[in-house]
Amino acid sequence: MDDTPDDSAALLQLLGAPGSAVFLDFDGTLVDLASTPDGVRLEGGVVEALALLAERHGGALALISGRPIAQIDAMLAPLTLPVAGVHGVERRDADGVLHVAATPDVSPVLARARALAAIYPGLLVEHKRGAVALHYRLAPELEQLCVHEMTAAVQACPGVLLLHGKMVLEAKPASTDKGGAIAAFMVEAPFAGRRPVFAGDDTTDEAGFAFVQQAGGQGVKVGKGPSAATLRLASPGALRTALLAASVSPFKE
Ligand SMILES: [Mg+2]
Repeated sequence: MDDTPDDSAALLQLLGAPGSAVFLDFDGTLVDLASTPDGVRLEGGVVEALALLAERHGGALALISGRPIAQIDAMLAPLTLPVAGVHGVERRDADGVLHVAATPDVSPVLARARALAAIYPGLLVEHKRGAVALHYRLAPELEQLCVHEMTAAVQACPGVLLLHGKMVLEAKPASTDKGGAIAAFMVEAPFAGRRPVFAGDDTTDEAGFAFVQQAGGQGVKVGKGPSAATLRLASPGALRTALLAASVSPFKE
């Protein structure tokens, strides 16, 4: 039996509140996880719901992802939203201006991850701006080996931090995270002065939950697992249902 608490009603209220700023993770939050990053599918009606919701919040809706911005744009096309990509390394603000953080050299991590993937075909390496992700979803028995190799590789790279997400190890700049990305949006129009709500599902989203809650907003953890978020939804499906409902119901003044 699934005993995950369900705060859908509270989330719906927040999504419908005129003063909210909405921040959403993508994988495992808006879409169900797939066996490979390319395999995810955005369900029908979600893009339209995001567009409506963004319009009703005066444009104060942004995606906060570990993916590069280009991938998020391709998934949401033809909709273009403010986005933070690669955990905040890249950020496109509401005016369409791209902000790119300085990043440490991750080439030693990339080399080690690629060497490992050359031996084990079940491993998938993603090279992003200033980050390297090693996915082991197709070879979960290799988790310990991947952790060992990536930990060693990151130790040789100053300023690089290792995140352990769902079936993925990601080396990323220590200086940027999702909390910082949301904070950067929150000092700009149309986000400034609003109450931030951030929904996410994984380790990397905890920095976002911490920031929004300290700023008087709410974090929404999607799925199981420990989290500092004050609200919880059972699944990406529950989040999609709330988004669709909020996009068509009138604002409560
Ligand atoms: Mg996620």
